[in-house]
Amino acid sequence: MNNTPAQYKEEFEWLKEVDSLALANAQLHLNDAYKNFWSNKKNGFPKFKSKKRNKNSYSTNNQKGSVRIEGNKIKLPKIGLVKLEMHRQIEGKIKTVTISKAPSGKYYISILVEYENQILPIVPRKFLGLDYAMNGLYVSSDGECANYPKYFRLAQKKLARIQRKFSRSKKLSKNHEKLRIRLSRIHEKIANRRRDFLHKLSAKLVSEYDLIAIEDLNMQAMSKKKHGRRFSFGKSILDNGWGMFTQILEYKSHWMGKNLVRVDRFYPSSQLCSCCGYQNSETKDLSVREWKCPECGSQHDRDINAAINIRNEGMRIFA
Ligand SMILES: [Zn+2]
Repeated sequence: MNNTPAQYKEEFEWLKEVDSLALANAQLHLNDAYKNFWSNKKNGFPKFKSKKRNKNSYSTNNQKGSVRIEGNKIKLPKIGLVKLEMHRQIEGKIKTVTISKAPSGKYYISILVEYENQILPIVPRKFLGLDYAMNGLYVSSDGECANYPKYFRLAQKKLARIQRKFSRSKKLSKNHEKLRIRLSRIHEKIANRRRDFLHKLSAKLVSEYDLIAIEDLNMQAMSKKKHGRRFSFGKSILDNGWGMFTQILEYKSHWMGKNLVRVDRFYPSSQLCSCCGYQNSETKDLSVREWKCPECGSQHDRDINAAINIRNEGMRIFA
């Protein structure tokens, strides 16, 4: 299809209310959706956006200063100056901005910038291994736990109470809408707190260590209970944010010239003795929390031993 957004402007007056680059971006997204569909039919035919189902957002580009920061405001095409709550200074040239409205009614803007960044690779001297832990995110080769707070679980009682009120309230009533916003705010707060925690924790680890090794886990398969024998708490895994955490670790490491190494998920990290390398298949049983190596006599904490093995395997792969 070679249709342009401009040719619809006569028929749909409201298209004139938004800037042309926002429309161009919508068209690019549609093209991508078609390409995805034709490359693999499993991706499904493009669907119309829904006010209810979809996130309300649009993207526009900076053209010769059409998007710029002025004091504590941002200038947007066709909208003008909008007051901002900026959580960091913008460095570099603004390329694209995406404005979105969260279900709570709050507006967010994410700003993509381009700048020169020379990444000098660091010769790793400090190494860390992380063993995924369903309760608490991870145990490290230095014997530390992430102490991950279970935000969702903590907020669940409150959520359930408001959810009940919400379902009982009359649809389209003022109260119904009020409760919907309250629910959205709680969800938003949980997500924000989780992200904040993961960002701070990953920044700390990346500044302290030069190479971090992790298990390359397939979280989706795990939460689907396919591997029910080993992992069987779908909700706990999803709450736990391991996927998001490792993604953040990866790009933060990269920015600083450091390394994140993913160790194959079939590497028997919890079975090997981290002192002599003896493989103890008895530790396949998850209830074994501590064990003594029958070969060299070392006493092991299950998780710390696994984290040390992951660290060593990461060092080996890197070398
Ligand atoms: Zn041993």
